[in-house]
Amino acid sequence: MTERTRRGERMPEPFELFALRYANHPGRRAVDNMIGGDPHEAGSDLDYFVWVARRSDRVFVIDVGFGEEQAAARGRHLIRRPDEALRLLGIEAHRVEDVILSHLHYDHAGTLGDFPHARFHVQDAEAAYATGRCMCHGFLRQPFHVEDVVSFVRCVHAGRVAFHDGTVELADGLTVHRVGGHSGGLQVVRVWTRRGWVVVASDASHLYENMRRKLPFPAVHDVGAMMEGFAVIHRLADSPDHVVPGHDPLVMAIYPPVAPDLAGIAVRLDAPPQPL
Ligand SMILES: [Zn+2]
Repeated sequence: MTERTRRGERMPEPFELFALRYANHPGRRAVDNMIGGDPHEAGSDLDYFVWVARRSDRVFVIDVGFGEEQAAARGRHLIRRPDEALRLLGIEAHRVEDVILSHLHYDHAGTLGDFPHARFHVQDAEAAYATGRCMCHGFLRQPFHVEDVVSFVRCVHAGRVAFHDGTVELADGLTVHRVGGHSGGLQVVRVWTRRGWVVVASDASHLYENMRRKLPFPAVHDVGAMMEGFAVIHRLADSPDHVVPGHDPLVMAIYPPVAPDLAGIAVRLDAPPQPL
């Protein structure tokens, strides 16, 4: 699917790009959100999202969130299940063919069973990390839910996982890129939209503040790689306004809602953000 730009280059048909907010975690302190944060300062809430890149020929769901059990176990407020959130865009989870998992943490890979016909796109390094020796350490294991990892392994054995190593083009106008730091093999997604190249950074940066102040989120596997990752995601995006962090409530405030009744629930990332 291509179209011509004014300069005559052939560019892919742009994807529509959406963020769907499905959960929230209020009452955090600055130190909960960044290493080096002020211990006396209140911190931003975390919002939890799934993302969708959609055009006439393909639909990619990016991450699948968590359900009721992990919300209760970890004290997160589940607003709606991720499959219900997708339905707001007219997407039925059981019909989705392609799911990109940015990484396998509980809040990104917790509802694989709702996508029985999907192929899951994962980095080799993330699969190895989530099933390897690092999981012997409680600190590194904590963001994973073992049942999600088991579900993932079942998908591997069912031939439903597409493994990627580094930068891979999944469609004309959509690529995944491994960014180290937060997890063993996190990947970000670069998407061609009507406003240019947008990067769904997922947990390469939880909040705008992590990138801006260059302070890593405390759930981290490799601090140096996470710091490098801030530069990588900015290199991949057309501007800082084209980088979408993984958990920032500001995303709902600065991007336009998909429809007036979906304000705070579903926004368009293919439209420019409004300054606050
Ligand atoms: Zn994570």
